[in-house]
Formats: sequence, C-alpha cells, structure tokens
Amino acid sequence: MLAGTLYLIATPIGNLEDITLRALRLLRDEITLIACEDTRHTQKLLEHYSIRKPLVSYHEHNETRRSSELLRRLGAGESIGLVSDAGTPLISDPGYRIVNAAIQEGFNVVPVPGSSAALAALPASGLPADEFWFAGFVPSKPAARRKRLLELAALSVTAVLYETPHRIAETLTDIEAVFGERKIVLARELTKIHEEFLRGTAKEISQQLAGRGAIKGEITLVIARAEEKEQVDDPAAEVAKLEAEGMDRMEAIKTVARRSGLPKREVYRLAEARGSNQAHKNLA
Ligand code: SAM
Repeated sequence: MLAGTLYLIATPIGNLEDITLRALRLLRDEITLIACEDTRHTQKLLEHYSIRKPLVSYHEHNETRRSSELLRRLGAGESIGLVSDAGTPLISDPGYRIVNAAIQEGFNVVPVPGSSAALAALPASGLPADEFWFAGFVPSKPAARRKRLLELAALSVTAVLYETPHRIAETLTDIEAVFGERKIVLARELTKIHEEFLRGTAKEISQQLAGRGAIKGEITLVIARAEEKEQVDDPAAEVAKLEAEGMDRMEAIKTVARRSGLPKREVYRLAEARGSNQAHKNLA
C-alpha cells in the first residue's frame, strides 16, 4: 500500500454541529488538501471551525482532470480530504471516479462517516427502516421517472429518494399514480430551523403543499413498502362476515381488497356472485 490517503469526509446537511470530532481533527491537523464541490461553500464550513487549509474544486465537470492531479499528490504521500457541499461524498454527489482510481492504484481510502440526508430522513420517517432501497434522484424526464417508480413499487422494501423543490410537485403526482394509497413521508430541511415532516399519501401531501405556493428547501422522500397481504381464502365470505358485524357493504369490500391485495372490482364481483348464490339457495 502506498503512503497517500484519501479521506471521504461527511459534512453537515444543515446544522453545522453535525460534524464529527474525527472529521474536524483530520481537516485541521492531518489533511494537506481538501477537494470539494464548491470551494466557497466549504470555505464557510472551515471558517466556522477556524480551519485554514488549501482547497481545490472537484465536481462533475472536472472529475477526470482533477482525479489525475489528486492521484499524483496521493502518490507524493499527501493526505487528501474529499468533501461534498453537504452530507456524505459520493451519495448522489461526485467522488466515484477518484475513489475508484485511488483504490486501483493502491492508495488508502478511508471513510469518515457522518451526516447523510437519506439516513437522517429514514429513521425519523416512522416507516420500516430494517431494509431499504436508496434510489437517489429519480430521472427528470416523465417517462423515465414513471418507469423508475414502477421498478421501485415492485420492491418490498422502504424506498428513499432525493428530490428538488422545483420538481417535487410532478414527482408526487407520479408517485400517486404508481403507489396509490401507499404511505409516504416528505422530510424537508432536515437538521435546519424549518425542519418538517409531512406524512400521508402522495395525494394528501400534494394537497398540503399546494396550499403553500412555492415549495422551498431541500427534500428527501421516504416511501413505505407494500403492505404484506393476508391470505384470504374466501373473499366473498369475508365481506359477508364484515357486513354481519355491521360494516356497510362498500366499506367491507374495500377492507377485504386492502387486506388481500385483490382489486376492489374483483372482491365486488365475488361478493355479488355469493349474494346471488345465497338468494338462489334461499328460494330453493
Ligand atoms: N451527499 C448528500 C447526502 O449524503 O445526503 C446528498 C447530496 S444531493 C446532491 C442533495 C439532495 O439531498 C437534495 O436535493 C435533497 O434531496 C437531499 N438533502 C440534502 N440535504 C437535505 C436536508 N437538509 N433535508 C432534506 N433533504 C436533504
């Protein structure tokens, strides 16, 4: 292993206190150079902690060129810190190219974990967090976005997505079309003063946002996994049982459809067929 080390350092996603002691020590004492997306942005963080260090930009437009320069400096034994504007580098952020190249060339690549919007939103969403799928940003083109959402809907795990405020309305409309009544949580401005969580179906959340005018701030969406369906052997009998317990017929049909995963129309048809069979039996 060569001497140079590339540290992947997570920085705050809002609240400046969300940075680890280790990250601060490395930035202050060990690292000779910080590669960051936007030097002005990172400079503000460093000023907050009275850290003075040389910065170079590393972003999607100069990744290739900058990677060879960073590799050369790693080769000279330097310790370089890679940070993004917010959260964990490489998580919907630049860095893959340099990390991959550094590994190929035998340099140390060391994670320095901390904030990430996905991992802040998920545990506070109240949705199952034992298994999840991080989908990053879904495509901006409507057809590709719907296709990706359909793929996500087929997975039986919680999904976590990033979205921008100017596309959130369209994405919620598509989520409503694909996920229907599935519960979702919109986490906005995490760790900041105006942090909030909106919970409900995509339709309910769209309605809440529509009343506000412009939607501002950073947004992470968490979508519940499909509910596990019960094995309902005789849906029509189940409807009849619920009706006998006092539920009205349409409500009983909806309940059985939800529990069994069968379309409402199908449960209705079975319940009707049972009803006419019963009527025949009573007449006979
Ligand atoms: N690397 C970052 C991370 O680890 O979370 C993500 C960078 S990605 C370019 C930016 C997106 O992350 C935003 O558009 C938003 O979807 C999400 N995000 C970042 N900060 C957030 C915050 N404070 N609250 C909610 N979502 C946030």
